[in-house]
Amino acid sequence: MINYTKQITVLYVEDEEDIRAGYERAISRYCKTVFIAKNGAEGLELYKQVSPDIVVSDIKMPIKNGIEMVKDILNIDKNQAIIFTTAHTESDYTLAALNLQVDGYLLKPVDKNKLKDKLEQIAKNIILEKENIKNQKILQKILDIQTSITLLTDFEKIEFASKSFFNLFGVDHKNEFYSLYPKLLDIFVKHETYINADTKEEFIKKYKNAQEEFKIISIASVVGEVKVFHIEIDAFDNLFLVTLTDITKIQLERLNTGYKATHDSLTGSFNRAKFEEIFDEKYKRVKRYNRTLCIAILDIDFFKKVNDNYGHQIGDEVLKELAKLSINQVRSTDFFARWGGEEFILLMDETSLKNATKVCEKLRKSVENFKKQNLPQITISIGLSQIQQNDTKDSFFKRADEALYKAKKNGRNMVVSHG
Ligand code: GH3
Ligand code: MG
Ligand code: MG
Repeated sequence: MINYTKQITVLYVEDEEDIRAGYERAISRYCKTVFIAKNGAEGLELYKQVSPDIVVSDIKMPIKNGIEMVKDILNIDKNQAIIFTTAHTESDYTLAALNLQVDGYLLKPVDKNKLKDKLEQIAKNIILEKENIKNQKILQKILDIQTSITLLTDFEKIEFASKSFFNLFGVDHKNEFYSLYPKLLDIFVKHETYINADTKEEFIKKYKNAQEEFKIISIASVVGEVKVFHIEIDAFDNLFLVTLTDITKIQLERLNTGYKATHDSLTGSFNRAKFEEIFDEKYKRVKRYNRTLCIAILDIDFFKKVNDNYGHQIGDEVLKELAKLSINQVRSTDFFARWGGEEFILLMDETSLKNATKVCEKLRKSVENFKKQNLPQITISIGLSQIQQNDTKDSFFKRADEALYKAKKNGRNMVVSHG
């Protein structure tokens, strides 16, 4: 058995010399150190100097009695461990002593075994509490030196958090944090890419269902900077240990690479690679479910002349404006992309050739009528086709291309459809 008493210091206050001498010897055998005082005034002075773990004090004493001394001590440290020793003859003090709610009362003459047990019991609490505080400090230190952010929580209150967590919000303590975010779940940015929820259950469910690379959350930090973290959640003692690893940089690169791979850098519209992917998807769907699809190829008329007469930069501006105009005009279910050069593609889902012709005609007209300062006016030719039962992707596309060729041959600035 661990002898807790051996690790603690005791202040023993007693005015009667005989009693004092006897107990001093006994207490010094159990404890690390015993300090002795002859009355309350001496006791208080010594208390201030040595900060003992436990105070054992008589009540009735000259100069300053035990109750007055203990009141002063509790003003210094309200958690100070205190044991009173009292005699029957001191019963007029008993009520006042009881009101102080100290850790123990032992009746004089004090049974040395009882005193020993009482000291041991209090010592155990003190030592365990000290260890607890030390462990918390060690844990906090370990958490603080980690590069990841750690949080122990039930998703409502924070049991524990690393400094780096509080730093995100520019606060020092959880109480300050609560004044910013009364609900912990509110820190997670509500965006489909990132895990977020209104309830703990929903959040954890989404976390569990997400594939590893999508276990990500986003937090808007105190300076308004949006950060992205990989999140890991472990159940721990009715709570959750949440570990956040900053992947903001990687995520930005990931998004950027994804964007670059699918978009045309000049006009911002989808590029040919994305078109090939979407065209393939739509084509397969049409074949499987026997649906319809139209494709239009748009080509600027005499675009070479724009470059020759106004310069390549103005040519670029014209391409950008055309893309903007087209994207704004087509329906959300349509797919618009830059095929390359001054040619663009429009895929129209669930659209008859008649309706697709109308859409193209409207677009052709709005390009013809479009005016912007410093830019030359242009016209476009459009070749259009609707998918047929025995079409392959190539034959379907080729008919639109042939239609475009016809539009060019027949005078440009027109829409030609080819079944
Ligand atoms: P047509 O009416 O027969 O289509 O005549 P066109 O001049 O438009 O056709 P052509 O295919 O002869 O010329 C296309 C021009 O588009 C040639 C090329 O310099 C220009 N072009 C292609 N891509 C770009 C680009 O990104 N920026 C600029 N400014 N010009 C481009
Ligand atoms: Mg061309
Ligand atoms: Mg052209």
